[in-house]
Amino acid sequence: MTDFRVGFGYDSHRFAPDRPLVIGGVVIPYELGLAAHSDGDVLLHAVCDALLGAAGLKDIGTYFPDTDSAWKNADSTMLLTKVVDLISDKGWKVNNLDCTLVLEKPKMKPHVDSIIGRLSELLRTEPDRVAVKAKTNEKMGFTGAGEGIAAVAAVSLIK
Ligand code: MG
Repeated sequence: MTDFRVGFGYDSHRFAPDRPLVIGGVVIPYELGLAAHSDGDVLLHAVCDALLGAAGLKDIGTYFPDTDSAWKNADSTMLLTKVVDLISDKGWKVNNLDCTLVLEKPKMKPHVDSIIGRLSELLRTEPDRVAVKAKTNEKMGFTGAGEGIAAVAAVSLIK
């Protein structure tokens, strides 16, 4: 190991009707989706920012501005793939990812393993290097009121 970095990312999106709920690249059956210029994948956006931050790059909005129609309703797995390409070009490889979703509903437990599988593919690493947790906010704040979902992600990179 010649070099090691840590990155941190945060994102949140408001619930909205008539949209699919996509979290970690997995479609979750629920009556609401997340409002966003892209598909609103709050977890992948937090992961993108963690990766970019660890590599000393700018934030996700710099590379995928919400004023650019190219990213309208964009599949966020495409965004993450581009971010992984960016960090790979700089010689970085994902060592591990740890992330937490904060939401009251829907229950994420049945979907966590699918999300870990998808994330490990997208990050070109093994599933045991990826951890995904979900917790409620004890009914406090916007996540607690069920207005939206927040996600935080910490990543380490090695070169
Ligand atoms: Mg976002």
